[in-house]
Amino acid sequence: MKKIEHIGIAVENIDVSNALFAKLLGKDNYKIETVESEGVKTSFFRLGESKIELLEATNENSPISKYIKKKGQGVHHLAFHVDDIEKEMDRLKSEGFVLINDNYKDGADNKKVCFLHPKSTGGVLIELCQEKDS
Ligand code: ZN
Repeated sequence: MKKIEHIGIAVENIDVSNALFAKLLGKDNYKIETVESEGVKTSFFRLGESKIELLEATNENSPISKYIKKKGQGVHHLAFHVDDIEKEMDRLKSEGFVLINDNYKDGADNKKVCFLHPKSTGGVLIELCQEKDS
C-alpha cells in the first residue's frame, strides 16, 4: 500500500457539509459524483497527496444511511492507494482479513475499490483503491 488515498466521512447533508469543509480546508471541492450502485453521493476535496471524501446516502438502504443511524456523522473509512487491487486482495485474504466483496467494484473518482470488513481490521472500515487504467 502506498499512501492514504482519501478519508471518507459520512454526512447527513452534503450541501451543508460541503460548505463546512470548504471553510475548514480553505478550498472548494473539485467534484461531486453519485455512485447509484452504492447508494452514495460523494464530494471530493484535494488535500496534498490525499483527499477528503464526503458521503451522503441517496436512499434508506445505503450503507451510509445505516451508518449515520447507528453512529451519527463522522469518519466512515480510510482508503489506501494500491497499484494492483487484485494482488492486494489476494495478499490480504491470505493474511486472514475479511473482504466485504469478493471482486472489486467501480467506485467514485475513477477507481476500482474493495472494502475490508471492520471485524477483521480492529474496527476500521478500510477501502482499497486502484486508479482505473493504471
Ligand atoms: Zn472512499
